[in-house]
Amino acid sequence: MTVLVVGGGIGGLATALGLARAGHRVTVLEAAPAFEEIGAGIQVGPNGFRMLDTLGVGPVVRSRAVHVDELRLRCGVSGKLIAGLPIDDGFRSRFGTYAVVHRNDVLAPLLDACQSHDRIDLRVNSGVAAYTQDADGVTAVLRSGDLVHGEALVGADGLRSAVRRQLVGDGDPQVSGHTTFRAVIPAQDVPDSLKENVVTLWAGPRYHVVWYVIAGGRSVNLVATADNGATEAMAGKPVEHADVMRHFTPLCADAARVMELADEWRAWVLCDRMPITNWQDQRVVLLGDAAHPVLQYAAQGACQALEDAVCLSSVYDPRDVRGSFARYAALRSERAARVHHASRWMGREVYHADGEAALARDAMFASWTVADLHERLDWLYG
Ligand SMILES: Cc1cc2nc3c(=O)[nH]c(=O)nc-3n(C[C@H](O)[C@H](O)[C@H](O)COP(=O)(O)OP(=O)(O)OC[C@H]3O[C@@H](n4cnc5c(N)ncnc54)[C@H](O)[C@@H]3O)c2cc1C
Repeated sequence: MTVLVVGGGIGGLATALGLARAGHRVTVLEAAPAFEEIGAGIQVGPNGFRMLDTLGVGPVVRSRAVHVDELRLRCGVSGKLIAGLPIDDGFRSRFGTYAVVHRNDVLAPLLDACQSHDRIDLRVNSGVAAYTQDADGVTAVLRSGDLVHGEALVGADGLRSAVRRQLVGDGDPQVSGHTTFRAVIPAQDVPDSLKENVVTLWAGPRYHVVWYVIAGGRSVNLVATADNGATEAMAGKPVEHADVMRHFTPLCADAARVMELADEWRAWVLCDRMPITNWQDQRVVLLGDAAHPVLQYAAQGACQALEDAVCLSSVYDPRDVRGSFARYAALRSERAARVHHASRWMGREVYHADGEAALARDAMFASWTVADLHERLDWLYG
């Protein structure tokens, strides 16, 4: 018998690999014609790297990552430094690797490992419309009408999960009103004075801009987010440079210089969902963004999907599918909810603070030492 994994993103492929390494047969059903990630960079925290290590792909992802020296929070208006978290020996010995990676440099090693595993069957053009189940197994009903049978089904089909629609039925995800504009700049275009091996985040009134080097230092990933009251979800829509820039005022000179380097922008209107605990319907369970989509502000969506994958693989027992899935959901749902709340809090109180709230934020960070920051991050990275 086989476990069906719906969706071949980071969460789905990590789950397939984890289950196969634990001795189970897996079929991955991916809607798209190929396994690939859209967007460019991703920050992978120590908790994410530990999961990649557990899945056996940590070393290859590390070898393709940019190992930044510091995470820096600056004021988007004045440019002044608000706080810095060195990614140094002290950080690494306590938590492990923190690095920035091209999304495909996370997905491709997972995909390679899945392709070379004889217990994994990878199928593209296999969008799942629904599932049925009985006491013995579960059937994925593909959009084509084809049926695929298994002993269990994991819905790792992302923010607009068809599995979740059937399992939870809570409608569309919640539109945050925040628009993220992403661009990739050739590193050679960046002035030397701005070339630092750090993740820099400029926090301004109702906006923030993040940038860091990816792809072995060849490209710079730029993510600029505005709390602009957007009301409709959007994913990857091309936008004009001038339409991006008007959301980011007033903006300090360095941040403006970086943003002026970008000419091809794409926009996403961010969505999340309030945390739930009912991730399971008998032999069917949710994972990754399908279970707990978060705003990107804690840089944890993919890391949490990886944690889900390792957790599910380690508790899965084909003799007790329902019990295994219940254990997995119980182990994971509280932590995923905490990440959800932390992500919203960071957006509201740290990244987009304005006026008095920004002053309070600056005072809060000024009162914290690096050791204090480590303590505050321990629940997430430790
Ligand atoms: C702007 C931005 C920045 C981010 N930055 C970070 C970061 O720095 N660090 C971090 O950890 N996370 C980050 N994230 C979050 C991260 O990208 C996601 O949480 C993560 O990719 C979720 O993985 P997933 O596998 O659960 O879902 P997805 O990556 O969405 O994969 C779902 C897969 O399922 C497929 N699919 C969909 N419907 C069906 C269907 N019906 N049948 C079959 N297949 C289907 C899709 O084609 C896709 O391949 C960011 C997100 C955004 C938007």
